Amino acid sequence: MAEPFDAVVVGAGLSGLCAARRLREAGQRVAVVEARDRVGGRTLSRRLGEDVIDLGGQWIGPTQRRVAKLAHELGVKTFPQHHAGEKVLMIGGRRSTYSGEIPGIGVLALVELQATIWRLDRLAKRVSMATPWDTPDAEALDAQSLGSWLARHVRQDKARAVLEIAARAIMACEPSELSFLHFLFYLRSGGGLMRLARIADGAQERRLIGGAQQLSEKLAARVDVTLDAPVRAIEQSDDEVRVVSGRGTLRARRVIVAVPPALVDGMELTPHPPVLRDQLVARMPMGSVIKCIATYPRAFWRERGLSGEAVSTDGPVRLAFDDSAHDGSQHALVAFLLGATATALDEPKARREAVLGSLADLFGHEAREPTLYVDQDWTRERWSKGCYVGLMPPGVMTTCASTLREPWGRVHWAGTETAVEHNGYLDGAIEAGERAATEVLAAR
Ligand SMILES: Cc1cc2nc3c(=O)[nH]c(=O)nc-3n(C[C@H](O)[C@H](O)[C@H](O)COP(=O)(O)OP(=O)(O)OC[C@H]3O[C@@H](n4cnc5c(N)ncnc54)[C@H](O)[C@@H]3O)c2cc1C
Repeated sequence: MAEPFDAVVVGAGLSGLCAARRLREAGQRVAVVEARDRVGGRTLSRRLGEDVIDLGGQWIGPTQRRVAKLAHELGVKTFPQHHAGEKVLMIGGRRSTYSGEIPGIGVLALVELQATIWRLDRLAKRVSMATPWDTPDAEALDAQSLGSWLARHVRQDKARAVLEIAARAIMACEPSELSFLHFLFYLRSGGGLMRLARIADGAQERRLIGGAQQLSEKLAARVDVTLDAPVRAIEQSDDEVRVVSGRGTLRARRVIVAVPPALVDGMELTPHPPVLRDQLVARMPMGSVIKCIATYPRAFWRERGLSGEAVSTDGPVRLAFDDSAHDGSQHALVAFLLGATATALDEPKARREAVLGSLADLFGHEAREPTLYVDQDWTRERWSKGCYVGLMPPGVMTTCASTLREPWGRVHWAGTETAVEHNGYLDGAIEAGERAATEVLAAR
C-alpha cells in the first residue's frame, strides 16, 4: 500500500486550498479531495457576454487584508464597485431614492434606526471574537432570535424594516431564523453593521477582475487536487486517518476538513466524534440565497442618476447592485433573493420573470428586457446546501459552537465558518485554512 500523505484536505474551496498551499510550502506531502467537478466551492465565476461574472462570493472590503494579499500574490487585480448616484429603497410598496448611508424614512424612524445601529455595534463589541460563547450574558443573547430582539427593541416599523433588510442582506436568512448572539458575533467578526452593509469603506468596496473563483483556480494549479471525489467516510486510528471518497481511499497522518459543518453530515466518521460536535453539524443549517445577473445594452439606471444599489422589503429582489464590467464593456445589474424569497421561487422560468419585474419596479421598465440573464440557486447546490454561510439558530452557539475549531484527534476543521475574523467571507476562509494548516504543522 502507498505511503500515507502527511495531510489530506477535504474540500477545494478557498479555505482548503489555502491550507494545502501552506502545508505544501512547509514541505508536506498533501492531497486535496473535492466533491464537485471544479474548485472554488462558494465562488463561481463564468463568462456572460463580454465579462466574467461572479455567481457566488464577489466583493472584498478594506479591512480584508488576507484576501487582498492573496489576490495581489496571484496577480488578480481589483476594481472599485460602482456606487455613484442615488440608491433605491422599496418599503411597504413605496419607492424612494436617497443618497448617503441611511435611507430617508421619516425623522422618528431615522433617529431610532441610527440609535439601534449604535446599540447593535456596542453589543457586538462585547462579544469575544475567538470564543463568542464566553460573552457576558451569552446564554440570554443566544436564547432569542435576531427577529425577536428587533421586535422587542425597535418600535418604529420603518426602522425595523430597514434593519431586517440589512440582516437579510448580510446573513441570507430571515431574522427569525438566526440567534441574536450569532448575529452580534458576525458583526464583531466583520467590523460592525455599517462596515458589512455598505460599499465605500465596506465589505462591498471592490471586485476582482476576472472573478473570485480565479483565486482557487490559481491555488489549485500548485497542489494535487482530485475532483469528482465526494468524501463519504473518515476513519481514524491511533496512527493514521483514512479518507474514503468516490475515487478511492487515501491514508494520511492528519486530515483537514474544509467544508461547512452542514456538509459533514453526509460523512461517516469513525470512531464517533464528541456528541456536541455531532450536534453542531445537525444544528447549523446554511442560509438561502439565489444570485441573479442581468445584462443590458445601456446602464439606464445610471442615466436616471441611480447607482444601481437598491434594498427592498417587497418583491423577490431584496438587494441589488450595479454589476457592470470594470472596463465599461458591459452593463449589468446583480440581484439577490434572500431568505424566504430565495426558497419561494424554485421554478427557473417564473423566477426570471419575477426577478426582472422586481428590478423594473426598482430601476425602470427597461429592466424587463435584458440582453442576457443568468441565476444561481445555492439552496439547490448539493455540495453547499445553501449559502452564504452556516447559521446558528437560537441555543446553538452556547451549547455546541465550542467544537467548531476543536480538533477531533487527527482531524482538523477549516472553512469560513471556523474563522475568527471576517467569518463567513472569503477573507475568513483564508484565515481558517491557514490556521488549520498551522495546527497540523504544530502537531507533527
Ligand atoms: C451568493 C454568494 C455571495 C457571496 N458574496 C460574498 C462576497 O461578496 N464576499 C465574500 O467575501 N464572501 C462572499 N460569499 C461567501 C464566500 O463565497 C465564502 O465565505 C467562501 O467562498 C467559503 O469558502 P470555504 O472554502 O470556506 O467553503 P466552500 O467554498 O464551501 O468550500 C468547501 C468545498 O468543499 C466541497 N465539499 C463539500 N462536501 C464535500 C465532501 N463530502 N467531499 C469533498 N468535498 C466536499 C465543496 O464542493 C466545496 O468546494 C458569498 C457566497 C455566496 C454563495
